[in-house]
Amino acid sequence: MAGLYLHIPFCKRVCAYCDFFKEVGTARMGPLVEAMHRELEARRDYLGGEAIRTRYFGGGTPSLCPPEQLKGLLDHAARLFDCSVVEETTLEANPDDLTPDYLDGLRRAGIDRLSIGIQSFDDDCLRLMNRRHTAAQAVDAVRNARRAGFANITIDLIFGVPGYGGRSLDRSIDQALALDVQHISAYHLTIEPGTAFGRRMARGDFAPVNEAVSEAEYAHVHERLTAAGYEHYEVSNFARPGFRARHNAAYWHGVKYLGIGPAAHSFDGRERHWNVSSVEAYLAGEPSEAEILTDHDRFNEYVMTRLRTAEGIDLDEATRLFGEQRIARMQHDAEGWIRRGTLRRDGQRMAIPPERMLVSDAVIEDLFET
Ligand code: SF4
Repeated sequence: MAGLYLHIPFCKRVCAYCDFFKEVGTARMGPLVEAMHRELEARRDYLGGEAIRTRYFGGGTPSLCPPEQLKGLLDHAARLFDCSVVEETTLEANPDDLTPDYLDGLRRAGIDRLSIGIQSFDDDCLRLMNRRHTAAQAVDAVRNARRAGFANITIDLIFGVPGYGGRSLDRSIDQALALDVQHISAYHLTIEPGTAFGRRMARGDFAPVNEAVSEAEYAHVHERLTAAGYEHYEVSNFARPGFRARHNAAYWHGVKYLGIGPAAHSFDGRERHWNVSSVEAYLAGEPSEAEILTDHDRFNEYVMTRLRTAEGIDLDEATRLFGEQRIARMQHDAEGWIRRGTLRRDGQRMAIPPERMLVSDAVIEDLFET
């Protein structure tokens, strides 16, 4: 089973923390969608006949794309690939785009899951992040989506925002819980060079929260959401039972996926391909680049993706995939982390307890093959 990812790179304005590939304005939406149709056609053999299980519109802001154009892409894909067993079709959306009319159009287009970029329910925090919606619009978006028939909604929240922990974060969590969505992604703010926050940090008028605050806020989010019945199943992801993100899980489990659109990545089981991160060059038909993943790359990727999930590494599966010698070395390097409680071994499974996953990078790097 495979995944299909479609990238709509346009945004109305740039969020202060964002270092994703995007272009401001939607003037080139039409030509972009046409080019994506051409790419679908050109890569019709990429998945080798495997059926598509999940489809995902990411961005940028895909909710700037008219529903008819989204539907056109999905219909075209259904003529080229086996989409008869699709289980989930997600669209990332900005709250203020989700008007009742637009939502109806999305339902008609075949979207059945919404990923709403709310980030915070505190207007001051939203302004600081240069988001274009308000907390009230975010609440309306979720309610409108439910009224339109969406029964699978995920929202994004950001924590670790300087000055917006404590009561601000708690109010956001309260509101998220009151909305009773099926899934919540909670990300720690990272300050990247080249973003508005990064530039402010370089000037000395903005600083990240310290490690103790990061860990406390992460633990707090974990406690509140799990107490409310969400499973903490991946470092940044919480789900009601039965509502884990299927498309993203496909990335973590190494299944094939085809990425269409500028900056989109694809994986055919052996090679990874990525499209050029420029609308201009994509429209001009610049070919994707590729790298063949060696056993070494695949092993490190396996360790990284699995240790970010609550299930962790299945040692039997890992041995089958990568051989006894590699796994024995990894287990040897894991011993110290197991003694300190950062890693847990339970039968043939080795996992980082979700409440400790914020520090997963250190463990993962240690278990990597150099
Ligand atoms: S909407 Fe998303 S992609 Fe666009 S600038 Fe904001 S964070 Fe970046």
